[in-house]
Amino acid sequence: MDIRQVICTKRDGDAHPREELRFLAQAAAGHQEATDYQLSAWLMAAYLNGLNEEETAWLTVEMADSGERLNLSGLPHPWVDKHSTGGVGDKTTLVLLPLLAACGLTMVKMSGRGLGITGGTIDKLESIPGFRTDLTPAEMIAQADEIGLALTGQNAALAPADKTLYALRDATGTVGCVPLIVSSILSKKLAGGAEKLVLDVKCGSGGFMKTRPEAQHLAESLERVAEAAGLSCRTVITDMDQPLGRAVGNALEVEEALDVLEGQSGRFRDLCIHLAGITLAHAGIDSDELSGQTRASSALADGSALAKFDQWLLCQSNGKSGVGNLRQTLPRAAKVTEISWHGPEITVSAVSAFVVGTVALSLGAGRATKGASIDHSVGIEVLTEVGKKLSDGDVAFRVHLGTETATFDPVQLINAIS
Ligand code: URA
Repeated sequence: MDIRQVICTKRDGDAHPREELRFLAQAAAGHQEATDYQLSAWLMAAYLNGLNEEETAWLTVEMADSGERLNLSGLPHPWVDKHSTGGVGDKTTLVLLPLLAACGLTMVKMSGRGLGITGGTIDKLESIPGFRTDLTPAEMIAQADEIGLALTGQNAALAPADKTLYALRDATGTVGCVPLIVSSILSKKLAGGAEKLVLDVKCGSGGFMKTRPEAQHLAESLERVAEAAGLSCRTVITDMDQPLGRAVGNALEVEEALDVLEGQSGRFRDLCIHLAGITLAHAGIDSDELSGQTRASSALADGSALAKFDQWLLCQSNGKSGVGNLRQTLPRAAKVTEISWHGPEITVSAVSAFVVGTVALSLGAGRATKGASIDHSVGIEVLTEVGKKLSDGDVAFRVHLGTETATFDPVQLINAIS
């Protein structure tokens, strides 16, 4: 087989036989011949012409089998994973992983980098000095055995096809495509070996699905493909019209996750508790979501989730970073500028996650090309939210810039608010 044959099938709007998708996944993993421009050509053809559900399910399994699958037998049940379809300021994994591990779940997870305007857990964690996001399968199992959780990025051993396709999608405008999102997410979940899965499908301007019907369509496709692959999956659709929480940008988001683990309240904490309740019920630890929420709130209140976060950081950074020194060691921006609201008092009805995400990307929080470096220190603190009052002179945003001379458009940012 030749990659050109695979590209032409999709260019012409035909359905792939399974062997072509196997070839594609093997090529993306570097086991068959294909250049980045050929893989990108296929991605655009798939974006424009779509994949049917059978193709999506085949692609998912072939991508998962482009590397190893973790064998979690030997670790305490239940083996659980959570994933978000991606949003602006979505740092939920940083709180949920230690929180759920503190509640007794074995959390083994593969995450990705930033995609489009949405941030990625791996980029966020890499703002922590010494934090490793390239654990080998053996290291994942050993760490999960020791502390109940482990997280890695896609790598040469685990879902390597997703690592390549994910980075190319980010640079070629081919992210927001249901079959590509489904196969990307679920291939990682299959490779990670979990038995129970909770998927947070983001809906709104800061996610890939902008409307409720689109989000519903993605959720249903995720559920069907997951079930077909033997994964017990629960999806939840949550709001992504305004940024999630205060911080947008890698190091800033790590700090906000720490704030919540240390007891800070607010919308972001509420979502963590909501998702934790659903996950604990889905995993069979609690009889219903409300009991799960109560358990999760206690793990935040009694410090056990924070202690688990500390263990996790210390383990994955070889002792270099822990809760005690995290704030001092996170990278800091060269310059911080405040943007104030000017005009009559309003009650905020919208803060566009799309605009905030776009400005954060332009500051260097995400990538324009595959493999580009990012600036972990930059980002935006969103100091208002829907339902809050804003009066003349109130500071609405704090913008963290990478250099003294970096520029951005304050009017674009203030126009995010209505
Ligand atoms: N998260 C992923 O892992 N993949 C996507 O395509 C989107 C969100």
